[in-house]
Amino acid sequence: MELESIILPGVDAQRPIVIAGPCSAESEEQVLETARGLAAKGIKIFRAGIWKPRTKPGGFEGIGAGGLAWLKKVKEETGMYVSTEVATKDHVFEALKAGIDMLWIGARTTVNPFAVQEIADALKGVDIPVLIKNPVNPDLELWMGAFERLYNAGIRRLGAIHRGFSSYDKKIYRNLPLWHIPIELRRRLPELPIFCDPSHIGGKWELVAPLSQQAMDLSFDGLIIESHCNPECAWSDASQQITPDVLDYVLNLLVIRDTVQTTENLSELRRQIDQVDEQVLELLAKRMRISKEIGVYKKEHNMPILQSPRYSEILKKRSKMGEQMELSPEFVKVILQEIHEESVRQQMIIMNQ
Ligand code: PEP
Ligand code: MN
Repeated sequence: MELESIILPGVDAQRPIVIAGPCSAESEEQVLETARGLAAKGIKIFRAGIWKPRTKPGGFEGIGAGGLAWLKKVKEETGMYVSTEVATKDHVFEALKAGIDMLWIGARTTVNPFAVQEIADALKGVDIPVLIKNPVNPDLELWMGAFERLYNAGIRRLGAIHRGFSSYDKKIYRNLPLWHIPIELRRRLPELPIFCDPSHIGGKWELVAPLSQQAMDLSFDGLIIESHCNPECAWSDASQQITPDVLDYVLNLLVIRDTVQTTENLSELRRQIDQVDEQVLELLAKRMRISKEIGVYKKEHNMPILQSPRYSEILKKRSKMGEQMELSPEFVKVILQEIHEESVRQQMIIMNQ
């Protein structure tokens, strides 16, 4: 993909690029009061949901196209760029007609290739930045597919929003961060700017600051944060919104570490890591060779591949061994399970030969 910058004129390209505003546009007063507060803190890109995909009927499903006029007012009065979520071609037409500067595709829309394609078709020939939230399920290919659909429609100013992934049991987070997924996205599409949405990952305003810091430490380009002039009274996502003042406080506390490797020491440590990785791979290859030999033996002696007492014993002994080496038991367990699975796969190949 050959992408173009999503940075709008006048917006500082330095990390983090910040998009802020309420979950939903509720009234003209709420939109303008929030926007004024954010503009006073130097925020340049305003967000507000006009059409809200809600889990259950009966909740506030967004003010609808009428609210676009309020975003127009935000633009005129504060000079901020305005952005909103689109989920259908009608949303796209309405948003473009109202002069919205940036669009995003929500997590519940990214999961549906028909919906993404409809949006892509509606955007053909339009030059507007589009951010795509990860699908609610942890499926990187589906996320990639959405970028491809928009790209094939000619959209070159693309960005990603990492908003976390749904899970059955909710513990600390509303949506699990699963950071390795946006990290893999970065590896596959290095030019694609990635925003973190700490509001929807955390689901609680207290988590906005630590999640934002984590995103910065992982070299994310920007943050999209829900901010409301009166969070407790918000019509949607009340528990995760922060006032413009609190947002400003959070942003000022962020430590932005340099993304470029500069020190000699780091190069030396990385050289050591490269060497150790090579040794780890050599040892794994050796282990697989032995495992295959065992496979041949089992085949010749008519033995089954899986010997579960042996497997349980390995897991127990190695976890203990790992602990003595200051490795976490969960980590050791995951690694051993993967290795064991691969050994079984290899032995099955031998059995079927
Ligand atoms: C939102 O940004 O308000 C929103 C609906 O988010 P998501 O699509 O991530 O749930
Ligand atoms: Mn929201």
